[in-house]
Amino acid sequence: MAPKAKGSNCPDCLYYRKEVPVSTLLQLHAACDIPSEALLKIQEEEVKIRDNEAGILASQIAVGRTDWALQPQMWQYCAEKEDQRTYEIVELKNKDNDCIAFRQRDNVRPTQCLKCRYGNRPPDRYFQATARIRDPKLFSDMGEAIKKDFELEVMSGWVQRGMLPTQAAFQDWCSWYSEGGRCALCAYMNRYGVCPNYAPLSPEFDIHGEKATV
Ligand code: SF4
Ligand code: SF4
Repeated sequence: MAPKAKGSNCPDCLYYRKEVPVSTLLQLHAACDIPSEALLKIQEEEVKIRDNEAGILASQIAVGRTDWALQPQMWQYCAEKEDQRTYEIVELKNKDNDCIAFRQRDNVRPTQCLKCRYGNRPPDRYFQATARIRDPKLFSDMGEAIKKDFELEVMSGWVQRGMLPTQAAFQDWCSWYSEGGRCALCAYMNRYGVCPNYAPLSPEFDIHGEKATV
């Protein structure tokens, strides 16, 4: 019997979702260039989630399941059936590199919120509030107060999976996904860089455009 054709490499496939820690995106999407305890806490949580998901993966495989029970947060998965809320295990689906659902990724650039008409960058409140202060004590007090707000907002976004109950003051946010007074954070809404509602600000930012330089 002839061997099966090989070559379906998941990272080259349109449906591949590599694990993306939100903490790395928050570092890009949070307009406050100060050390953050909230980010450190989120990174600790992500390590725990990853360990937990490693256990879930082993149990799913042990019982013969080919999909994750829920969308994994810190593990790669196959998004071919994502619209049916099925998150398949690539380690099984493509274990022999001969997946028939493979679709070449070809030149598709990640969608970038700050190049999208729905993406918004809040002002750098820390800089604005402290830039003109000459009194060292006032500078320190203002800085501490703003830092506290920043930490609260970042943790609140994490706990509520990217939907803040109030307007974001420090993190990039998306006007497309925000609704009912809740503010959607870009780091969560566009985690994998494949947002279906991406609307480039100009043709040069089109994910397929030849002129794209980003
Ligand atoms: S398992 Fe198949 S469809 Fe899914 S990402 Fe890999 S190659 Fe693509
Ligand atoms: S989440 Fe999507 S729609 Fe919103 S700003 Fe980012 S790319 Fe645009």
